[in-house]
Parts: sequence; C-alpha cells; structure tokens
Amino acid sequence: MFNTVGRFAPSPSGRMHLGNIYTALLSWLSVKSRGGKWILRIEDLDPQRSKMEYARQIEDDLRWLGLEWDEGGIDGKGSNGPYLQSQRHHLYEEALAKLKDTGLCYPCTCTRADILATQAPHESDGRVVYKGTCRPEKMPSPYIDKPGAAIRLMVPDEEITFTDRIKGMQTVNLARHCGDFIVRRGDGAWSYQLAVVVDDALMGVTEVLRGDDLLLSAAQQIYLYKLLGFTPPEFAHVPLVCNEAGIRLSKRDKSLSMEYLRAHHSPEEILGMAAHRAALIPSSRAITLQELIEVYKES
Ligand code: GLU
Repeated sequence: MFNTVGRFAPSPSGRMHLGNIYTALLSWLSVKSRGGKWILRIEDLDPQRSKMEYARQIEDDLRWLGLEWDEGGIDGKGSNGPYLQSQRHHLYEEALAKLKDTGLCYPCTCTRADILATQAPHESDGRVVYKGTCRPEKMPSPYIDKPGAAIRLMVPDEEITFTDRIKGMQTVNLARHCGDFIVRRGDGAWSYQLAVVVDDALMGVTEVLRGDDLLLSAAQQIYLYKLLGFTPPEFAHVPLVCNEAGIRLSKRDKSLSMEYLRAHHSPEEILGMAAHRAALIPSSRAITLQELIEVYKES
C-alpha cells in the first residue's frame, strides 16, 4: 500500500515541451520524495486531437529523462487499468448513471452560439457561464434521455472551499464560475471533468499536481467527487511555464519543445532547466533525479 499516489495525465495531442516536463518533474518529485507511487495516464478523450504516436513519444521522452512511472502507460502495467481514457468508457458510463440518479442531470441542446448570445458584456475574461437555458423548472426523475443532446449537471449557488497546497485557500461559486456544466457532450464524448474525477478516484490518486490553468476546475471536480461518493485528493496547482514574452508555452515554442531540447541537451540539463524554473536550484545546470529528490526534500 502506498500512502502517496500521484499521477501525470498528459493529453497526447503533440510533442511535450519544457512546460509539460516541469509539471511531470514536480509531480514525480512530490510523490517520490515521500516514497509514493507515480501513475502515467494517457488522456486521449478527444479522438480528433489525440494520436497514439504522440502517446508513444510522451513515454519515450519521460523514459529518456528517467521519469519512470510505477503504474500505467500504454502497456498498462498495474491493476487499475486501462490507463488510456479511450478505453475507460464503461467506467464513465457507470459514473454518469450515478449522477443521473441524483436527479441533477438534464439534457441540453444549446449550441455554443446560443450560449454566447446569453453572456453579458462584462463577462469578458473568456469564461463562458451557462445560464441554465435548458434547465427544467422541475427536474424530471428518472432522467429522460434526449438523443443527440448534451447532458448537463446542475450546480448549487453556493461556495465550494478547498485548500490548494500551492495557491492556498480557494473559494469558488460554481453557479457564477461556470454554471451547470456538461458531463457528456451531444456527440457522446465524455467531459474532461467527469473522466478525470472517475480516473483519479478509481486509481487511488491522493494528490493531483498540475498546471494552474486547471485551478478552478478543481472546484467542479470536488463537486463531482461529492456526488459520486469519492474522497477528493489534495490539489497542488503549479504556475505554467512561460516563454520570453511571458506567454504560456505552446507547441509553437519550438526551442523549448522536447524535439529541440533532446537534440541539444542531456537529460540532466533538461531536468536542471525545469528545476531552475521551479526555483529548486539557483541557476540552470545539469542535475540528476537522485540529487533533485534531496534538493526537493529540503525545499
Ligand atoms: N490532460 C490534461 C492536460 O494535458 C491534464 C489534466 C489534469 O492533470 O487533470 O492538460
């Protein structure tokens, strides 16, 4: 039995860059410095953007850096598999059935344009809040299927509070933050929120360390944990790695992509770059994982 179980859950939609390595390394160190188990889960929910060759490349890059996983991956070592989300539909189906039983789900036929048309002009930070257009006055129970419709989950107009290990206390009102959210799309695709909760819970994950672009998603996830009867993990959201212009790294920043980095640097140098960005070492230098574990423990 492991007391600490962490995971790295990349979407195989391209080659990794320093930002992905930074998150993977911090998650690995957090788990390994406490003798825990590290899982690799491939988040290939989106069939249009996910490719097996990218998943293989992710594994190859992680191994090359020495970031070995104890469980998971394409071959699925371990007893909580499969570890590819595209093979876990039956588990999401079971969770959806439970959510329907709560009486909080309803079908929604709004298009993106319909939803955008309901947004007030001041909501300009890019966030789209669903205003409940399709929410019935009285929730029919049991849930009545509407073919081709998305399935939304009703959220309460109340605050959810949690403490993030890095960002501290967070308070989110889901009704104001996102409104009732989709758990299954009209085309049958599963929502990230539902899949990630089912997977982390069933894989026994005790800590979720990932980029802080997902900080507020944690509130949606905590709500799902509660409805599904699971215990939420500890959350730790780390800042995203930015390029020189201060913009979050993307596939376009070629000089920080693993393709370029591997051609020009040793694994230890790349680990050093990521560790320096995480302020674990004062300047970027080649460093081994063993050394980093010691540095991490003292940080
Ligand atoms: N699959 C997500 C990504 O690659 C990460 C999700 C998570 O860590 O919860 O951005």
